Amino acid sequence: MFVEKIITRRCDKCNKEGRDNRFAFDQYEGCYLCPDCGAETEVVGVREPNWVSIALYEIERAYGGPEEGGWYYDKGRREIATIRNFEVDTPEGLAEATTYFDAMRAKHEIPVSKRRWDEPAMVVKCFSEEMALISTPRHIPVYC
Ligand SMILES: [Zn+2]
Repeated sequence: MFVEKIITRRCDKCNKEGRDNRFAFDQYEGCYLCPDCGAETEVVGVREPNWVSIALYEIERAYGGPEEGGWYYDKGRREIATIRNFEVDTPEGLAEATTYFDAMRAKHEIPVSKRRWDEPAMVVKCFSEEMALISTPRHIPVYC
């Protein structure tokens, strides 16, 4: 399913609790840290979202850093005219979102693995209970 669940985390040390995107993702350790005290956090809840935001992204290669002779990552830019939000807390709403997602993919998607050298990839992305990001990824990757 393309709709991601809402994950709630809690800090082991100061008990700060909230959605996982309110915590700091540590790419070196692969875990979420508390932005207030730096301690590790744990998942305390998982649920289906009430609404989603879907948009089309133009994906291009972006320079990551000089390590190992230079590396690149896929950076997405939102096509603003394609943003649509859907209530997905009913089967009808979820079906409407699914129809839009599938239609956008069928019409526009050029997977990263299939792009030609002279054209960007086009990818449809879905965000749970937040507006489609202006650019992706949420966290610019680091060399590790
Ligand atoms: Zn904390």
